[in-house]
Amino acid sequence: MFDYDVIIIGGGPAGLTAGLYAARARLQTVLLEKMVLGGQIATTEMLENYPGFPEPIAGASLGPLFEAQAKKFGLEILQFHEGLEIAPLSPGFEVRVSPARELRGKAVIVATGTQWRSLGIPGESELKGAGVSYCATCDGAFFRDQEVAVIGGGNSAVEEAIFLTKFAKRVYVIHRRDALRAEKIVQERAFANPKIEFVWNHVPVRINGDGAVTGIEIENVKSGERRQLPVDGVFIYVGMEGNTGFLRGLVALDERGFVQAGEDTVTSCPGLFAAGDVRQKLLRQVVTATADGAVAAVQAGKYIEGNFS
Ligand code: NAP
Repeated sequence: MFDYDVIIIGGGPAGLTAGLYAARARLQTVLLEKMVLGGQIATTEMLENYPGFPEPIAGASLGPLFEAQAKKFGLEILQFHEGLEIAPLSPGFEVRVSPARELRGKAVIVATGTQWRSLGIPGESELKGAGVSYCATCDGAFFRDQEVAVIGGGNSAVEEAIFLTKFAKRVYVIHRRDALRAEKIVQERAFANPKIEFVWNHVPVRINGDGAVTGIEIENVKSGERRQLPVDGVFIYVGMEGNTGFLRGLVALDERGFVQAGEDTVTSCPGLFAAGDVRQKLLRQVVTATADGAVAAVQAGKYIEGNFS
């Protein structure tokens, strides 16, 4: 009655590692990925903090290595297939998949990662793709010799600001506080980069443009004073939320859509495990995502064998 022991949804580092461990445990396993394998690292220029690679490795190179290793042990991958809905059976689950297909599995591992949060200010959705972007790796080259603004002060904002200096002649980093959240080594590089200008204690209130971005209106959070900054592009990096719309009503989520699950990857739904960035967690990195994937696969195996406590 079951097509698979384990159905993994999401082909980033967490999902692919879950697939590797499940396949090595000789569990009949399939992984669904709606887009490109590798998840967020597929659009990360270079990684220099994943252990085992003393030289920086391109995100686009690391993803295929995870994939090749998991396939070597027999993981079946259905690329360009999206898990749309999960219905609990007793026992097991039925996953409705696009393109049209239903798969039955004894356990499910959700590793669907995150999506970028939006600011929700006027001009943002209207100018998305016309100067407003959430992906410097994808869109940075369009801004050669132009001026752009990056919003946020975390690792994503600061790393992508540095990346954008390859193309843009000036990159404003607009941050709502006067101290960055990004790792210190990333901060040091940004402070040393003459093309980056920090605009502290400011938030964007409007993105201007008619068909293409022409500037951004920013507000000083201390004085309330507003001013215009003429820029050609706005890159928004104000954090992430869980890719979990399809789990609503099935699994407990927090206010940002992250699955409520601990290091054991156990969710409120028996037999469904959450691994990687989609899980509520302290640190979203490839190294913690792969760790989650391994734990989730072992947990799924125990659940299937009935040895789950
Ligand atoms: P993040 O760490 O949550 O940072 C979001 C930034 O946006 C913060 O600086 C925050 O300001 C600011 N912000 C949030 N809401 C805002 C609003 N409404 N208006 C203006 N600013 C706003 O998100 P992230 O940088 O995307 O990183 C997410 C996770 O991925 C983190 O765990 C990060 O370490 C990880 N990551 C790691 C790497 C790496 O290791 N190389 C690279 C990218 C991401 P405050 O600081 O004031 O809260």
